[in-house]
Amino acid sequence: MKIEDREKAVAPGLVVNIERIFLMIKKRFREEFEQRIARIEGEVSKLRPFAKELEESEEKYAKLVENSPTGIYIDQGGYIVFANEKLANIYGYTREELIGIESWKLVHPEDRPLTNDRRKKRLRGKKVASEYEARGLTKQGYTIWIRRRNTNIEYQGKPAILGNAVDISRQKMAEEELRKKNEQLKNFIRIISHDLKNPLISVQGFSTRLLKHYGEKLGKKGKTYLEHVLTSGHKMEELVSDLLTWANMGNIVYRFEDTPSKDIIKRVIKELDHDLKGYDIELVQEDNFPVLTCDEKRIYQVFLNLVSNAIKYTRNTNSPRIEIGYRDVQKFHEFYVEDNGIGIEPKDQERIFEMFQRGKGGKGEEGIGLGLAIVQKIIGDHGGNVWVESEKNKGAIFYFTVPKNLTPNTKK
Ligand code: ADP
Repeated sequence: MKIEDREKAVAPGLVVNIERIFLMIKKRFREEFEQRIARIEGEVSKLRPFAKELEESEEKYAKLVENSPTGIYIDQGGYIVFANEKLANIYGYTREELIGIESWKLVHPEDRPLTNDRRKKRLRGKKVASEYEARGLTKQGYTIWIRRRNTNIEYQGKPAILGNAVDISRQKMAEEELRKKNEQLKNFIRIISHDLKNPLISVQGFSTRLLKHYGEKLGKKGKTYLEHVLTSGHKMEELVSDLLTWANMGNIVYRFEDTPSKDIIKRVIKELDHDLKGYDIELVQEDNFPVLTCDEKRIYQVFLNLVSNAIKYTRNTNSPRIEIGYRDVQKFHEFYVEDNGIGIEPKDQERIFEMFQRGKGGKGEEGIGLGLAIVQKIIGDHGGNVWVESEKNKGAIFYFTVPKNLTPNTKK
């Protein structure tokens, strides 16, 4: 006899009860199931607008990437796995050709170590500048200049690099052209200045001798004329010297050494002593000048230009006064040269640091507007800053800083 038959035989009422209970349970489950389905449907209908938004946003981003004027790509494991149309245009490939290509093939052979090193470091999570310039190689074998911007991303679950590439070849060509023209101009100025120096020395030398040995014979008027020749010769000497310094600026190899700034300032004052005394200028100096890691010759030039200017633009004021001072400003040494001269109008205060730019006060004084440009270049090359605070007719304070962390004997 089967078990069920046995049960039916033993307790026929029990089977009926079990069936009823089973039906009840089934009903409960169905109800609960239906409720759950309804709840899920509710949730889904709430999410539906977001799904649409997501779809729209994906479409928007796809359009942005496709129409971008910048080349956009994804590099995964050293292969291009995504590229937009612009990137294909830049490198002269079709998009289909680009997908799957090894990314090093898009880089100029000489710049491959650089880009490879950056890629490895970036993927290892090391800090690398996200933007840099490197040469690229087109399918046709032409060299192009590319400005790249890279970001780490996850693409299809694996780490990858999202890259932006802008073709800057035209800009680079223009820069190179400009650099060559500038170099030609500097060479020309170097030759002219050299050629001018010798006749100038003769004019100065013979005028001085003439004044010394024949001054009495020349009479008062003759002596005055000769003194004018000497003054003009001196001015011309300064102009030629400014031009030569400027023309040689690009070729400077900086040597940073520990130098007491007190000694540099002392030499500058000695050099300008004649003018300081001649114009009866009161000179005030602080006594806290530090040891400076710098290129001594260049910083001498900086002080010389600033103090010469202070003399030049102060000498005709009442009670002319020049002060040279120093402040310790955390990571920087800060120097200043202050005068009580003619001052500088606010609108001129930035412009005067540019080459061949002179302020209103500069008219009538000797100079060609190179002194401050030279100062700015030298200070910039030392990693510092230079600026001025001034009011018209209330004097000027020129400040400059030099970082304390320069390493001696560093070549730049
Ligand atoms: P230059 O003195 O040959 O004109 P600089 O480059 O040394 O060239 O200076 C640029 C201009 O800045 C000057 O023409 C002058 O107008 C202004 N300037 C510089 N130093 C001072 C100063 N100490 N006081 C007033 N004006 C100044």
